[in-house]
Amino acid sequence: MSGETGGGDRAGGQSGSVQSRSVLVTGGNRGIGLAIARQLAAAGDSVAVTYRSGGPPEGFFGVKCDVTSSEDVDAAFGKIEAEQGPVEVLVANAGMTKDTLLAIMSEDDFSSVLDTNLTGAFRVSKRAVKGMMRKRKGRIILVSSVVGMLGSGGQSNYAASKAGMVGFARSLARELGSRNITANVVAPGFVETDMTAALGEDRHAEIKKHIPLGRIATADEIAKVVRFLASDDAAYITGAVIPVDGGMGMGH
Ligand code: NDP
Repeated sequence: MSGETGGGDRAGGQSGSVQSRSVLVTGGNRGIGLAIARQLAAAGDSVAVTYRSGGPPEGFFGVKCDVTSSEDVDAAFGKIEAEQGPVEVLVANAGMTKDTLLAIMSEDDFSSVLDTNLTGAFRVSKRAVKGMMRKRKGRIILVSSVVGMLGSGGQSNYAASKAGMVGFARSLARELGSRNITANVVAPGFVETDMTAALGEDRHAEIKKHIPLGRIATADEIAKVVRFLASDDAAYITGAVIPVDGGMGMGH
C-alpha cells in the first residue's frame, strides 16, 4: 500500500472556488476510470484514484489498492480520508474480464471475475457508506455493463458480475435513501479502452453492426454521465440503471 500524488499539480478541486467533495474512483489509473476522474476533477472535486499496477496517474492522489483485498480497501480509504476527508462520491469502476465458454470455464475464471467486479464493488461500498452515513449524504455510482442485461456468449462470468451490480445498487438505494445517499448504475456499451482493444478489428466490426449509433463510445462519453449522476442535478435519481451504449441494449 502506498498513497502518493502523481507528478504535477493535483487536477481540480484544490482551489476552493467550486464544490470540492472527496471523490474516489477505483481503477482510475486508465481507461474509463481515468476519464471519470478527469471529469469529476474538472467539476471541482478532490479526486483520489486507486491503481493496482504501475503508478498513479498524473495530477491525482493515487492509492495502490487491489479491490479483491478488504485490507487494501480499508487502508486505501484511511489514506484518502487523511488526504481529502471521508469519501462523499464513490465510483466503483475497477473491473476485469476472463472470457471463455462455460464448458471450458474454470471455477477460478468465474469466481475471480465475480470477486473483482461484484465483491470488489461490495468492499468499497461497504467501507464508503460508513462516512456517508455519518455525513448523511453520499453518491455511489457503480460501473456495470450492457452485457449484464443482455448476456454475451463467452462472458457468463462477466455478465453475472455486472448483473449482480444492479440488484446490489438497488438494494443500497432502498437501504440508504433515508440518509440522503443515492446508489446508481451506469451501464456502458462498447467503449474504446485497453479492455476492448484486445478484441481485434474483426470483432470490433462485428460488434458495431449491433450498435444503432454505429460506433464505439469514447471513455469520456461514459465519464460525462457519471459526472451528471454525481452532480446536484441528479439529486433525485437513485436505484437507476443508465445505459450509455449507443442503443445497443435499447434501454434494457
Ligand atoms: P481497463 O481494462 O482499461 O481498466 C480496468 C481498470 O480496473 C484498471 O484501472 C485496472 O487496474 C482496474 N482493476 C482491475 N482489476 C482490479 C483489481 N483487482 N483491483 C483494483 N483495480 C483493478 O477497463 P475499462 O476502462 O474498459 O473498464 C472500466 C470499467 O468499465 C470496468 O468495470 C468494465 O467492466 C466496465 N466496462 C467497460 C466497457 C468497455 O467496453 N471498455 C464496457 C462496459 C463496461 P490495473 O491498471 O492495475 O490493471
